Amino acid sequence: MSARILEGSVFARQFRDDAGRRAGVLRETYGITPGLAVIIVGSNPASEVYVRNKHKACEELGIYSEVIAMPEETTKEQLLARIDELNLNPRIHGILVQLPLPDQIAAHEAEILNRIDPAKDVDGFHPVNVGRLVTGEPGLVPCTPAGCIRMLELAGVPLDGQRAVVIGRSNIVGKPMLHLLLAKNATVTICHSHTRNLASIAREADILVAAVGRPRFVTADMVKPGAAVVDVGINRIAPKKLVGDVDFESVREVAGAITPVPGGVGLLTVAMLMQNVVQAAEMQRKKA
Ligand code: NDP
Repeated sequence: MSARILEGSVFARQFRDDAGRRAGVLRETYGITPGLAVIIVGSNPASEVYVRNKHKACEELGIYSEVIAMPEETTKEQLLARIDELNLNPRIHGILVQLPLPDQIAAHEAEILNRIDPAKDVDGFHPVNVGRLVTGEPGLVPCTPAGCIRMLELAGVPLDGQRAVVIGRSNIVGKPMLHLLLAKNATVTICHSHTRNLASIAREADILVAAVGRPRFVTADMVKPGAAVVDVGINRIAPKKLVGDVDFESVREVAGAITPVPGGVGLLTVAMLMQNVVQAAEMQRKKA
């Protein structure tokens, strides 16, 4: 039997509707319009598309949005000064710096991201927010893994007591996914490039998350029949051909549920960002 396809658009719509509704409450009840500032340094065509999408999503939901385009030759000090201004700007509740940064400042990425006020860190990358995620305190969580968990919940996929395997241990996807699944009482194993017997570990998973960055890495023989398979990967294998980290055609015959690429997890990230901007505004209002 073929797997149930978890369409990203369906869940993204729900995230956006919820963000729009909560933004409406902030506006009408408290006179607060949630605001996002996106800083983009230099010109990178892919980043420009992402930034445009974020801006458009904000407009749709009545979220104020500023795109701050800085030149390629921006110094670390100039960028830090801009972040400092935004940290103090009361119209702005969320700040993100679009990655990758140009070469001359890429080495300072951590210092730059850590300069963002944790209360406005809507990417959830600041060590304070990472710490909150690990300890289970409320904070801002990276959008892609947060979107995956919310999607699984909305889809009715059981998490409590289930075996979950995450392939990939990046700070952006793999590690936060581990903590989010743990917080839902799943029993979680994380695999990476040094893992031995990865296929047999993956086969134990009721929930298998692939965030590897390798085209069609997960094949049908690595999947337990009936498992929910979440494919975070986005790999361009030809100018107009994107594939995930999961071999969709073979795995869909084994899995119980699966996200496609394109059209799956990729659609959740911006929608989840909208939720994070609204959440940041809600938290800042409560603190004020
Ligand atoms: P990274 O490259 O930062 O991490 C990849 C992880 O996969 C690493 O932990 C690495 O292990 C592991 N890995 C690589 N090769 C193997 C292997 N042969 N066997 C086992 N593990 C392996 O990637 P990201 O986490 O940033 O992204 C992963 C994928 O998700 C990419 O395709 C990216 O484009 C996509 N992505 C999609 C998003 C979305 O919106 N849908 C958002 C973010 C990312 P090790 O640590 O040992 O090197």
